[in-house]
Amino acid sequence: MRQSLEVKLNSKSVKDITNGYPLLTKEAVDTARVLEEGSILRLIDANGRYIATAYYGLQNKGIGWVLTRKEQEKIDVKFFVKKISAAIAKRKNLYETDDTTAFRVFNGEGDGIGGLIIDFYDGFYMVNWYSEGIYSFREDIYQALGEVAEVRGLYEKLRFNTNGQYVEQDDYVSGEKGEFPLIVLENGMKYAVDLNDGAMTGIFLDQRDVRKALRDHYAKGKTVLNTFSYTGAFSVAAVLGGAVKTTSVDVAKRSLPKTIEQFAVNEIDDEAQGIKVMDVFDYFRYAARHELKFDVVVLDPPSFARTKKITFSTAKDYPKLLQDALKITNDGGLIIASTNNASFNMKKFKSFIDKAFTESNTRYKILEEHQLPEDFTVPHNYPEFNYLKVVFIKVMN
Ligand code: SAH
Repeated sequence: MRQSLEVKLNSKSVKDITNGYPLLTKEAVDTARVLEEGSILRLIDANGRYIATAYYGLQNKGIGWVLTRKEQEKIDVKFFVKKISAAIAKRKNLYETDDTTAFRVFNGEGDGIGGLIIDFYDGFYMVNWYSEGIYSFREDIYQALGEVAEVRGLYEKLRFNTNGQYVEQDDYVSGEKGEFPLIVLENGMKYAVDLNDGAMTGIFLDQRDVRKALRDHYAKGKTVLNTFSYTGAFSVAAVLGGAVKTTSVDVAKRSLPKTIEQFAVNEIDDEAQGIKVMDVFDYFRYAARHELKFDVVVLDPPSFARTKKITFSTAKDYPKLLQDALKITNDGGLIIASTNNASFNMKKFKSFIDKAFTESNTRYKILEEHQLPEDFTVPHNYPEFNYLKVVFIKVMN
């Protein structure tokens, strides 16, 4: 039986949650009771008045999520049908677009259920569970998904073991088994994905608009350096946009075959491109030593990176990363600076950019800014959930 209990909110949280803030923080509640994952919490104010219904589920951020502010609403299959069908209706355009077959269908708190992410890959659905609490609703959610979507095959990823890391498992759930690599389309570009190969699928869907901008407006006739390149998705976009040469740098060994594969499915000769399995910070030194410079440099580091030699944190070291990149960017060139670190906002990110360029005595001009694309819905009035920040910076001479 699912635990169900009343929990008193402090006055600040009463206000926030009444205004639509979706996250339940540890500080918001008075309870010292040990709660079971998946418990339904009836949130009340100091006078015992109903405020909202939430579920308990520990994540790196918060202890649960608000599900509804309607007292009578039950958290059952019907509830999930309502939420998922609303999310699908919002993505109608993407479902109908022939040249894009991979996108986000359900974006957690932005679609009303924190901890639950559902992505679409050419008819296959990939569900990401971010806590044991939300996972306890698995059967109801899969029933609801089956009722509202035509599911070719279902895969899932569990992201709630002790470190909040991906749990290594067979990700197949039901329906057709995919043959991987599965080729998806994004604005006409092909990307090879594998839904059953560890934590990541081969493509980060939130960068769709950025890949398109790079391809359509900034790649033609340019040399492009793609750092922290993973499977080389930005490099593919650059080549298809007419780049004269791309160089992809990633320290992970698997990035080499994965990048060759992304080029191959787009009929790009990988021999004409550069792919380096190498620490980006070593590459900066290597490039400086060989006097290599690029017209376009893509910077998309993980929030934290640790190698034998260095520990890198975007929140601390981004200005330095930009300065390193600046040294090997041609005058008049472009740096595409990206971060998915949720701990700072766009304003702060731009202050990092300003610091880096000011200290390097280099003028710059911001040409474009991107945050999450439309399918990565963010809760209304709470931009802090919009973690992606991408700035196109023209280097002035
Ligand atoms: N830009 C990629 C996604 C990057 S994911 C895309 O658009 O698809 C972060 C990548 O950084 C991972 O592939 C990881 O292997 C790589 N990485 C982490 N630390 C690194 C380092 N010091 N040098 C090079 N690559 C690194």
